Amino acid sequence: MAMELIIRASRWVVGGERLKNGLRLPPIRAYMDDMTTITTTRACTKRLLEKLQKNIQWARMEIKPSKSGSISIVKGQLANERFHINNEPVPTILEKPIKSLGRWYSAELKDSKQVEQLKQDTISGLRQINSTALPGKLKLWCFQFGLLPRLMWPISIYEVTLSHANRLERLVNAQVRKWLGLPRCLSSIGLYGSGVLSLPISSLVEEYKCAKARLEMTLTESRDPFVRGAAPTLATGRKWKPSAAVAEAKTSLRHRDIVGHVQHGRNGLGMEATTPTWQKATPAERQQMVVEEVRHQEEAARCAKAVSQAQQGRWMKWEGVERRRITWSELWSMEASRLSFTIRAVYDVLPSPTNLHLWYGEEPACPQCAAPANLKHILVGCKTSLTQGRYTWRHNQVLKCLAAELEKRRVKINSMPPNSQPVAPWKMSFVRGGEK
Ligand SMILES: [Zn+2]
Repeated sequence: MAMELIIRASRWVVGGERLKNGLRLPPIRAYMDDMTTITTTRACTKRLLEKLQKNIQWARMEIKPSKSGSISIVKGQLANERFHINNEPVPTILEKPIKSLGRWYSAELKDSKQVEQLKQDTISGLRQINSTALPGKLKLWCFQFGLLPRLMWPISIYEVTLSHANRLERLVNAQVRKWLGLPRCLSSIGLYGSGVLSLPISSLVEEYKCAKARLEMTLTESRDPFVRGAAPTLATGRKWKPSAAVAEAKTSLRHRDIVGHVQHGRNGLGMEATTPTWQKATPAERQQMVVEEVRHQEEAARCAKAVSQAQQGRWMKWEGVERRRITWSELWSMEASRLSFTIRAVYDVLPSPTNLHLWYGEEPACPQCAAPANLKHILVGCKTSLTQGRYTWRHNQVLKCLAAELEKRRVKINSMPPNSQPVAPWKMSFVRGGEK
């Protein structure tokens, strides 16, 4: 409240920067007790600082010039202009980089250093998690809820390109595979896809795209005309643009509005939970819907990639298979080897003789018959095993134990004299009509 008073009192001694669309940006912006001023000339900045200093002193507060910083740009180049507050010099960005609202500003005026720092943070974070003596799934949990959220802030505010995000994901994937006990050849679709089997971990690239789309929506759909008018183009490289992704998502949501609700599954008509329509959604809901749509796009891209994979994408052809969603609570109760087996069995990367032949050139034939032994052959398809009863052997062993026990009980009860047989205590007597 007090800050607002000071800002309003000092704001219009100078004209703010004029945008192409005619809007004038306010020269002072503030968040809590941090203040940023932007003006177009040196004289304006001096006048603004004087006025601000006067008003702040009037409010019995103080500016610390040593904790502030200044950036002067003349024709796209950094200039060594120095400003003073109360005759104390304000350090320029050339002398000291400054952090404002969680973002570093340095003399290069580029984010390359921060992106490099982000990579180093990812590597050191992964190394830290790896150095603990925890089991793999707990390490995975540490990554998902500890490291990933911490990486998301720099990813969303700095100019991180998609190829940078891809590189980071590759670093993460290598560790995730190690923690889950999966081979290196397993594609990232197996880790993050939600096809037949979905794991509770999120892909860094998907989160990156969602964060950028969310930022784009926040800037372009803001209620503040200044924010909307000054929304910058988010630099994410040439391969993927948030503005295009958001536009595509909006188009598909509008199209869904036109189509209306369609029935999925076998529930009765109108039994499904209704989702808000794009036209009637509030701005917050719209943002949520766009982010969900971006996730759908990403999943669709994953499916398209899976179709082209002859071996690991074979699940795309399975029909009538129930989808399996592994939750964290399920993951806790699962043994590590069982989880690893489940994933490897779905994507056919278990060390079956055919795969071993592919990887190391070993003999691919089944030891029982001459056919090549792939996963399907071993689990259900071997003729010799079928005729010899090997598939049912284990099942029959259990049944044999049960049958022996039942036989013992049957003989014991049959050998008892007839009247000593236990009478059922719940014997019912017949009640005729009219009786009580
Ligand atoms: Zn066989």
